[in-house]
Amino acid sequence: MRKIILITGASRGIGAATALRCAQAGHDVVLNYHREAAAAERVAQQVRALGAQAHLLQADVADPAQVLALFQRLDQQAGPLWGLVNNAGVVAPKARLDEMEPERWQRVFAVNVMGSLLCAREAVKRMSRAHGGAGGAIVNLSSRAALLGSPGLYVDYAASKAAIEAFTVGLAREVAAEGVRVNGVRPGIIATDIHADSGMSEELAAAAAGIPMQRLGRSEEVAEAIVWLLSEAASYTTGTMLDVTGGR
Ligand code: NAP
Repeated sequence: MRKIILITGASRGIGAATALRCAQAGHDVVLNYHREAAAAERVAQQVRALGAQAHLLQADVADPAQVLALFQRLDQQAGPLWGLVNNAGVVAPKARLDEMEPERWQRVFAVNVMGSLLCAREAVKRMSRAHGGAGGAIVNLSSRAALLGSPGLYVDYAASKAAIEAFTVGLAREVAAEGVRVNGVRPGIIATDIHADSGMSEELAAAAAGIPMQRLGRSEEVAEAIVWLLSEAASYTTGTMLDVTGGR
């Protein structure tokens, strides 16, 4: 049966790869993006070429009013929501804590943590049997950084991802008896444009040498784990984190 899956931050990287993998698995997708409308439209066209429906919804997930509007438009345009991938996330330039200003922490936590909480709340209201829904699945994007702490890089980002992990376990247990599974994926270093935002692009080749598999991961490899956690094959899996790190 075709299911409707909302993917936040789907204009590029892991979110775009997840949209395509969902379409290959026979699902319809709602693609959220923030700034890059043209890139999101290209992903939507690729999804449609695979025979799936793709709806495009712009919203800043850090803004509660925009998230509410996003879900209202989703209800009107796409139909009953079955899956949510809380993928939208940001980093900030490489720095030590004693070089950072609070404004960056507010943005990192607003997008990564508030954004995921806001979207999960709206998804639970639609999926949970306690709210008259038909069940569903949520996958949250954490990071290996949640366990490593990212010293000298972005401890704020690592802390935001640790928050995602606590939230994943807690929400999973809250809604486990209501037909909703909640899990997380913990990517290692994946070759996407996010590293340009932290100023780390130049250092990626050296970082690869420190990974047991001796290479960066691909967005498609993370998407595969996300789509498995969404699927019925993971029907008894909830409240867990799946590492996709090349052994790191
Ligand atoms: P990316 O290439 O930088 O893509 C980020 C996506 O998030 C873009 O589609 C962007 O939309 C969207 N986005 C950013 N801020 C948003 C906001 N406020 N509201 C809605 N959408 C927003 O990132 P990625 O590497 O694919 O990472 C995806 C997720 O995996 C993130 O949560 C990240 O923390 C996590 N992760 C990544 C890695 C890695 O090495 N790449 C490792 C561990 C975890 P626009 O382009 O339209 O603005």
